[in-house]
Amino acid sequence: MHSPAAPTTRAGRKALVVGGSLAGLSAANWLRVSGWDVEILERARLPLEDHGAGIVLHPSTSRFLTDHEGMALDDFSVGVDHLRYIDHRGEIVSQAPSRLRFSAYGALYRALRTSLAARGGTYRHGVTVTGVSWSSAEAEITDSAGHKETCDLVVGADGVRSTVRRVLDPESEPQLAGYVAWRGVVAEEALPAAQRAPLAGAITYSILDRSHVLTYPIRTAGDRRILQNWVWYRNVPDASQLADLLVDRAGVRHDLSVPAGTVRPDALAELAAEARRQLPSPIATLVEATPDPFLQVVIDVHPRCMARGRVCLVGDAGFVARPHAAAGTAKAAEEARLLAAALADARTDIGSALAIWTREVTALGRALVARSRRAGERAQVDGTWVVGEPLPFGLRDAGDSECYEP
Ligand SMILES: Cc1cc2nc3c(=O)[nH]c(=O)nc-3n(C[C@H](O)[C@H](O)[C@H](O)COP(=O)(O)OP(=O)(O)OC[C@H]3O[C@@H](n4cnc5c(N)ncnc54)[C@H](O)[C@@H]3O)c2cc1C
Repeated sequence: MHSPAAPTTRAGRKALVVGGSLAGLSAANWLRVSGWDVEILERARLPLEDHGAGIVLHPSTSRFLTDHEGMALDDFSVGVDHLRYIDHRGEIVSQAPSRLRFSAYGALYRALRTSLAARGGTYRHGVTVTGVSWSSAEAEITDSAGHKETCDLVVGADGVRSTVRRVLDPESEPQLAGYVAWRGVVAEEALPAAQRAPLAGAITYSILDRSHVLTYPIRTAGDRRILQNWVWYRNVPDASQLADLLVDRAGVRHDLSVPAGTVRPDALAELAAEARRQLPSPIATLVEATPDPFLQVVIDVHPRCMARGRVCLVGDAGFVARPHAAAGTAKAAEEARLLAAALADARTDIGSALAIWTREVTALGRALVARSRRAGERAQVDGTWVVGEPLPFGLRDAGDSECYEP
């Protein structure tokens, strides 16, 4: 990485970013390079490096790190040569060239955080924002300790249950898709060599009855090992069954995800048994060997308002698309880049800049949510996703995640 000089603040403009995950870090970095003072307020008390799992990369996701930090894609991701489909026996039934690249949440988080620190941005842990307001002259946030802070712009990057979205658009609620994503990451060596072969150098899919599973390699942040990431989409249409799944081993009821290490043993036992029954053997072995699978409820979120006054939303605080286009982080990064671009001229008033930005990101979000929903319904409901078809991965169009040099 370069050691960039911290840019001097132009016109003293200050942004407070609520939430310090990938969307918040992207927004803070893009605003910082265009001269803003930035401060991230993150409710978690500790860094989020271990959170999450694999991320299919998109050129928008890697753009800040390659263009502004001079990082090589191999520093934080790994590529594959093939898209494969395997059948229930683990036999390869379709293979096509692929230029997809894969990263890990921790690798992106660490790189974006290092970049922000090097550029003089501030990241504060343990701050829970409870309110946001604005006037024509400034915006203000309130935290759970009752402290208030003013700024020129508030960026809500506080995820699916965004406090900032609730202020801008109190009516919008996540809509359940009727299925969950079970996920996990495991060392490649967990698989015997014979079972590794059908997965090697590829992103591998298997189409099941009203269900599908995929697996791909990822590069970790610290020791840069290659791990195998898997995602298994399973229908849970019954509300009480879903509610039960969301109760963790300590009896705590979660909202839309159960983190790694907290899923109840009986739910893990059922997952392993069904993996043995339904999945091709190499992927069932991965699932069974994963120490701490976790689950996320698949949802759509369709906000009617992305910005008001001096406040805007990025990442999952705004539109949330089902994961089948593998572009949530890419969307966050692109919204952040477009935000900095819209606000680049210090003479433009913030309201006008946000109005232009809103038009762009609303079109992007709506199209992504619709395309991802169609892909999910084809796989989980209609059963029309056929073996061998190209993947729906992409931010603006299916296929645009593959725009990497071979
Ligand atoms: C199964 C699955 C697979 C996926 N695969 C991919 C993929 O391959 N590629 C891809 O691009 N995307 C993928 N995504 C989407 C991607 O993970 C998300 O879109 C992205 O991580 C969202 O980041 P975020 O920063 O907006 O939200 P989050 O990561 O949820 O972060 C929100 C942050 O805000 C903080 N916060 C919340 N409330 C407050 C508050 N009041 N005050 C202060 N802080 C607060 C939280 O602690 C958290 O750190 C996938 C998603 C799923 C479910």
